[in-house]
Amino acid sequence: MPEPGPGEVLVRVGAALTCGTDLKIAQRGHPKFPYPLTLGHEWAGVVEKAGAGAAWESGMRVTSAVSSPCGACAACRAGRENLCATAFDRPLFGAFADFLLVPARLAKNGLRRIPDGMADETAALLDPLASAVRGLGRVPDARAQDVLIAGTGPIAALLCFLLRGKEKSAAGRRIVVAGRRPERLAFFERNMAEVARIDSSPRVGGAGAAPPVFTFKGILSSLSPSSSFPLVIDTTGDPDVIEALPALAADGGTVLLFAGLPAEARVAIDAHAVHYREVSIVGSFHYTPREVDEALDLLSSGAIPAAEIVSARRPLAEWQAAFDLARTGTALKVAVIP
Ligand SMILES: [Zn+2]
Ligand SMILES: [Zn+2]
Repeated sequence: MPEPGPGEVLVRVGAALTCGTDLKIAQRGHPKFPYPLTLGHEWAGVVEKAGAGAAWESGMRVTSAVSSPCGACAACRAGRENLCATAFDRPLFGAFADFLLVPARLAKNGLRRIPDGMADETAALLDPLASAVRGLGRVPDARAQDVLIAGTGPIAALLCFLLRGKEKSAAGRRIVVAGRRPERLAFFERNMAEVARIDSSPRVGGAGAAPPVFTFKGILSSLSPSSSFPLVIDTTGDPDVIEALPALAADGGTVLLFAGLPAEARVAIDAHAVHYREVSIVGSFHYTPREVDEALDLLSSGAIPAAEIVSARRPLAEWQAAFDLARTGTALKVAVIP
């Protein structure tokens, strides 16, 4: 049992969610989050014990951002705390556990009180939702445009819910989600997005042949009536997919690179589209404290149907099954319960 030092906060975890980041780190490591590392960073719980000087009391229900920007460097002063060089010095991992020790700086600027009546599994969506909020904030008028989202994971779902807004209506706009997995596409169809099926029928050669390649070839013809989008968002982090996206963007449109990529990833960009069609390629990384607050407000408002995203739960002892379920099953996110 960790003992909270000055400014630190010990939390009893109520629920922690699987996330693509955890799955990726478990599979291939992460340039920003080296081992040794206890995974789990989307969580909600109760303050068990606060260290000296921490502005928290035992019994308070809390959730948290993952990063803690310094607030003083050039990036922080420019309002780009997501790019603070020390924001990830002590990232808040370790929520797949009974207890979690929140470092002092994070307890000061990353921890948030859970509004009354909000379930742990909803509050635990704070981190991915804040990222999605920032992603859309990187594109002017993102919510007024036709949008194509590549990929069918939880981030694609959060982006869809943000785009359709509280009125739960696309209001004449098209929100199209492109991917392969039929059960995931069915989820998006249920939730008012159009879907574009990427053809992944096995090639001649039958069983044992190479797995189908995730290709966007043919996607243009599968979309009607219009087949180019002012905003195209990648949530796959797959260089082959990203390479295909500028062709799907409308003249003057934007391709938003939302998903993380391996450090060595390189993508060949259609420079012709960037120049002659003024297609912009924009990145989005993580979030700032403002997006954390906005995400918490959105969760309170009920704009995000959390139960649609966190649709399965497993005890902590079965974490492996939870990971497998998130990777291959129908659940977008699985709640791991200590
Ligand atoms: Zn995450
Ligand atoms: Zn800073």
